[in-house]
Amino acid sequence: MAANISQKRKPTVKLGTDVVGHEWTDWKWQVDHSIRDIDTFEKLLAVRFAKAERAELEKTIAKFPLSITPYYLSLIDADDFRNDPVFKQAFPSVEELEVDECELADPLAEDTDSPVPGITHRYPDRVLFYISHVCSMYCRHCTRKRKVGDHDAIPSKAEVIKGIKYIANNPQIRDCLLSGGDPLMLPDKYLDWILTELRKIPHLEVIRIGTRMPVVLPYRITDELVAILKKHHPIWINTHFNHPKELSQASKAALQKLADAGIPLGNQSVLLAGVNDCPLIMKKLVHKLVKNRVRPYYLYQCDLSEGLSHFRTSVGRGIEIIESLIGHTSGFAVPTYVVDAPGGGGKIPAMPNYLISWSANKVILRNYEGVITTYKEPDNYVPAVCNKKCDDCHLQHQVADGEAENPGLVGIAKLLADSNKVISLTPENTERIARRVNE
Ligand SMILES: *Cc1c(COP(=O)(O)O)cnc(C)c1O
Repeated sequence: MAANISQKRKPTVKLGTDVVGHEWTDWKWQVDHSIRDIDTFEKLLAVRFAKAERAELEKTIAKFPLSITPYYLSLIDADDFRNDPVFKQAFPSVEELEVDECELADPLAEDTDSPVPGITHRYPDRVLFYISHVCSMYCRHCTRKRKVGDHDAIPSKAEVIKGIKYIANNPQIRDCLLSGGDPLMLPDKYLDWILTELRKIPHLEVIRIGTRMPVVLPYRITDELVAILKKHHPIWINTHFNHPKELSQASKAALQKLADAGIPLGNQSVLLAGVNDCPLIMKKLVHKLVKNRVRPYYLYQCDLSEGLSHFRTSVGRGIEIIESLIGHTSGFAVPTYVVDAPGGGGKIPAMPNYLISWSANKVILRNYEGVITTYKEPDNYVPAVCNKKCDDCHLQHQVADGEAENPGLVGIAKLLADSNKVISLTPENTERIARRVNE
């Protein structure tokens, strides 16, 4: 049904020019002809919104702009568009105007943990680097809605240079995640230049690109682009499929090009009410992904960004979905379910519990079927006591010249370390601590 409609619809998409095959698969044509107003949407899909709803929709897109590529629009089933997962992700809902008390413009404090504009440095060894603030399709569930369509926010070349310098000056950064907006909105040459500059940094081991192009504009994955990416290996790509319906022939072809270029592919889904909050849909999605050499990486709990409350599910729904995957399907098809902590705590895994209990010499575990089992701990396990001096240790961790023997420990790993004297992590600024100071 859906396939019929998209085939029937392609030739009817008229936006000034008649669409012939060649133009349809030209990514720049797709960007230039993206649907940005409700009139055009109505015409192309042959649907009509009631006057009152339309007025609300206009208000919504004044706040959060609308943009859908003709390709992504063609996936919508016009006969049941209100329930269509592509429609729900791409077309505004009047519910976006409702802002919950708990919702924030920047819930993840990405702009706060930013040492230079365009960089979020939250984790010790890796950074997010925003090199574009525009996308070909504006996801209605975007966590960075505050920036969507803000053309003043397109990072200048000077800003990008500052970001590259920051990475070059901080040798602990071994992984850089290019994000945005969609980095693949940038012209090939400019992208090639950024990647070339980054590759000059000796301590930067891995470059990742986060892009939704394989989903919303697969024609962006051209042979020319792939040839550029290949020059700068190791390049990893994470994309963003949310529903099995999005894996069209064109998407699959794009994924094949990337995988054939030796780029490991991952997928980050967002759990969205009314789109994919169903164990069966998620299972079908992960199966389709791995068939196309894409490893499900994260399943995100929907962030507390402004205007997303209608998309949010309970965390319990997410756990239930993961419960339906672990053991039931290939281990590599199971993503890690994470809640990105409001306030900037980063991603926190929220997975079902398998460790039920333990004693001095036994642990009790349960499997996916409900089997409860025991694992007897070894009687004579003698762990190497760590004094943080790898040279004194029999384990062969080879420390290269200039490499820190045992870099500073953080968080729970620090509490667990033999060499550490700290016995608790204590929140600052509590009344209890204040009283101590005043003693
Ligand atoms: C998600 C994220 C990363 C990358 O995290 P991984 O778990 O390594 O994929 C890095 N920085 C920020 C700010 C992030 O939100």
